[in-house]
Amino acid sequence: MPGKQSDEEQVEEGPAEDGVDGDDGDDQNLGGLTAEELRQGQEAALALEDMMALSAQTLVQAEVDELYQQMRPLGQGRFGQVLLVIHREKGTPLALKQLPKASTSLRGFLYEFCVGLSLGTHPAIVAAYGIGIESANSYSFLTEPVLHGDLIALIQPKVGLPQPAAQRCAAQLASALEYIHSHGLVYRDLKPENVLVCDPACRRVKLTDFGHTRPRGTLLRLTGLPIPYTAPELCVPPPLPEGLPIQPALDAWALGVLLFCLLTGYFPWDQPLAESDPFYEDFLIWRAEGQPQDRPQPWVGLTPVADALLWGLLDPHPRKRSPVSSVHSYLKRPWRQREEEEAEEVDVGDNKAGE
Ligand code: ADP
Ligand code: MG
Repeated sequence: MPGKQSDEEQVEEGPAEDGVDGDDGDDQNLGGLTAEELRQGQEAALALEDMMALSAQTLVQAEVDELYQQMRPLGQGRFGQVLLVIHREKGTPLALKQLPKASTSLRGFLYEFCVGLSLGTHPAIVAAYGIGIESANSYSFLTEPVLHGDLIALIQPKVGLPQPAAQRCAAQLASALEYIHSHGLVYRDLKPENVLVCDPACRRVKLTDFGHTRPRGTLLRLTGLPIPYTAPELCVPPPLPEGLPIQPALDAWALGVLLFCLLTGYFPWDQPLAESDPFYEDFLIWRAEGQPQDRPQPWVGLTPVADALLWGLLDPHPRKRSPVSSVHSYLKRPWRQREEEEAEEVDVGDNKAGE
């Protein structure tokens, strides 16, 4: 089920500064960012630089085997592997993410390590231990091990998740993303593989993998093909020659796509490109005509409540798009027709019993 790499995106490092020396609020010069939004991103970037400089000085120089006993792989990403290890002296189980030097720079490693460290206190974000290790051929860092794997294994193709689990994921992920955004950062890699589950009913889930997280306003350009999670503003020529200054709205889009997948077990489209993707084109027509009952085929089975939530998160205009926090006002009401019908049957049954 929905598993796609979003690695086609590449970042031009550094927050947008170009032509931004005045605070005249001229959105054109800021590529659509307000001066306040730009300031938030620059503050986040400075705080991270400080943390990275300190962390670089305290990296433990050792081979992983000297300190930890390797138990089993927990997962494999595009750049690194994650292993369950045990501290040789204390016996503590830990997850160790190992990134080969051949494909990861010291700066790239420190970035991911420090972002994870600065966010890891949120209950829906994987806890990070402040231990970074430099070995001969790799960099590694340690996080809490989450032993039920990631969300991809729980999404049943063409079905999705049970509604209570989907809503619990939605609430926790929205909260984690709000927290990330409040730190002036954009997560940029929301997908089921990066959501770890602590129990099969998703009572507790945890976001991981901060390799793509960047300060708000960082200039980004799409260099490969878009995937369903890629927001449409990344698929058009950027507002500044250097790229699009990134905004939390990118994560709101990805959250909309992820929730759709949790409710249906498939993607709403392959790419948010009306010219080449008929599913996306149908979605745009449906929205524009504002006739909820004429839902396109992939949307059959959802309720008007889910439509309203997803239309907000999947607004093609980033400035009009609902923030991730909008999820909280749609919880505890049916998102799928099948659950709505079941709820109605229960109501009728209750009324009859009360007659
Ligand atoms: P990449 O940056 O290469 O995508 P990730 O950090 O996403 O790497 O890790 C790869 C996979 O490893 C994840 O999709 C997940 O299945 C697993 N994983 C990562 N961190 C943990 C953890 N703390 N506990 C358990 N499994 C993990
Ligand atoms: Mg990942």
